Amino acid sequence: MLDPEELYSKASAAKSENLAFFKRLGKMDSRKLDDRIHRLHKEVFAGIDCLACANCCRILGPRITDTDISRISSYLRIKPVQLLADYLVKDEDGDFVFKSMPCPFLDAENYCTIYDNRPRACREYPHTDRRRFYQVLPLTLKNSYTCPAVFEIIERLKGEK
Ligand code: SF4
Ligand code: SF4
Repeated sequence: MLDPEELYSKASAAKSENLAFFKRLGKMDSRKLDDRIHRLHKEVFAGIDCLACANCCRILGPRITDTDISRISSYLRIKPVQLLADYLVKDEDGDFVFKSMPCPFLDAENYCTIYDNRPRACREYPHTDRRRFYQVLPLTLKNSYTCPAVFEIIERLKGEK
């Protein structure tokens, strides 16, 4: 698997080509695009070990909703205000995010210690299995700098006719 620096450098090198390619994807029939992306998502993730990567848990901060706060604090048996004080901060958009990254709930073996109660954004990342994929095209390009699976999905998609 590509290390984070190697991935960033490859994604940067592919930036112009990927921007042009994504413009074309945006004009595709939405359902056909979903079918192709979902198939590639399955194929690529079948060969990826997220426990050997954890880039998303180290680099990206998920947006944490009020529902996430209730669920996580309940699981940790602390009050929501305690979770806020100990772990969260508001970002420039007014959303709650972790105070610092890597995520405080990532352990030394790359396991998420709140896995069954993790934020919704963590469950959905990197969004390559969602419906109406065209809605997250710009976000997917951004994620190609961090997630080796996303980078590989884009490369395979470009290789298909
Ligand atoms: S909550 Fe879990 S899945 Fe989400 S960033 Fe932290 S360690 Fe990763
Ligand atoms: S960055 Fe992508 S490949 Fe790496 S752990 Fe997260 S989802 Fe898995």
